[in-house]
Amino acid sequence: MKITSYTLHRLNIPLPLPIGDSQVRFDEHWLTVLELHCDNGTTGVGFGLQQGKPTCSLADLKMQFEYSCWNALKDQPPLHLAQRITRPRGGNVGGGYLILPVETALWDLVGKQLEMPLYRVFGGEHREVRAYGSTLDFRLSDEDFRKKLQRVSDCGFRAVKTKVGHTDIQWDLRRLAMVYDVMGKDIDLMVDANEAWSVKETLIRMNRYRDAGFEIFWIEDPITRGDYEGYARLCTELTFTRVNTGEYVGFSEKRQLLERGAVDVLNLHDAIHVTRAAAHLAADYGIPTSMGNTFLEIGVHLGASLPECLYMEFSDLAWNEIAQEPVEFRDGFALAPDRPGHGMELNQDKLTFYSKP
Ligand SMILES: [Mg+2]
Repeated sequence: MKITSYTLHRLNIPLPLPIGDSQVRFDEHWLTVLELHCDNGTTGVGFGLQQGKPTCSLADLKMQFEYSCWNALKDQPPLHLAQRITRPRGGNVGGGYLILPVETALWDLVGKQLEMPLYRVFGGEHREVRAYGSTLDFRLSDEDFRKKLQRVSDCGFRAVKTKVGHTDIQWDLRRLAMVYDVMGKDIDLMVDANEAWSVKETLIRMNRYRDAGFEIFWIEDPITRGDYEGYARLCTELTFTRVNTGEYVGFSEKRQLLERGAVDVLNLHDAIHVTRAAAHLAADYGIPTSMGNTFLEIGVHLGASLPECLYMEFSDLAWNEIAQEPVEFRDGFALAPDRPGHGMELNQDKLTFYSKP
């Protein structure tokens, strides 16, 4: 089986409600969808998400793809490419290997070639991954936040993550109270500050939440990435909750977080090879992991195959419209599709509808 041609799509999906956190607000998704076609008629699909700004035109995307990727893929077997490890350095041109859409499409092809769902290819035995509802609510009114929480609860989740980090701590406390109000107290409640605070502010806020009666399962990204000393201090001093970080950084920085005792739950939110390598390293440190949002929730295959993945994030986003059968969530668990590859076949009507030149 060899790769013979490709198709690129440029999509723009408007969001019914804005998503955001203490730092950003997004009203639409800009997506790149890559299809790699093989000589036996099999197609593998990969995705790239660009937040906050439009991707370049389809003609420019094609030109960049031809220039930087296509020569390495053309006439090659997918298994060979998906398994390749390259030097992670390279002076002015950087290092590393495959961009995310290419890597995802290659693994999709590998799964299809083996007639196996990806979580099985990656060694997983069970398709269930414990999941939490993620409200991405910072830019929502109290009323819309309440509706979102109700939906999370109605979908059967017993774990939820909300945004904190408002300049007014009373805002944070009010929203946390709404979570208990809608979902009850018998839940795992995570909060995400998206780098809003200093170390001291984090300690103040987390103690205030606790004093107000909120039990926080983890605090995510409270301070700036790269402040390993600060994260290590938080891991030591916040004995009543867990520190989750790693979402915004690559493999080397994740390694540093682990080496410096600067993370309690390592957030994996990256390419397949990086995620698997980082999870392996985290397991060696005895540190559990979590899966952040991945496009069309295909990270479920990673979550189902990695050691000690505590939770997978589910944000219920409009992107699931382009899948014929989105990943299923039931009773607080994500279920990895049992179809070959990642199992996300495209809805052609939606693809056409959201396509941009
Ligand atoms: Mg986050």
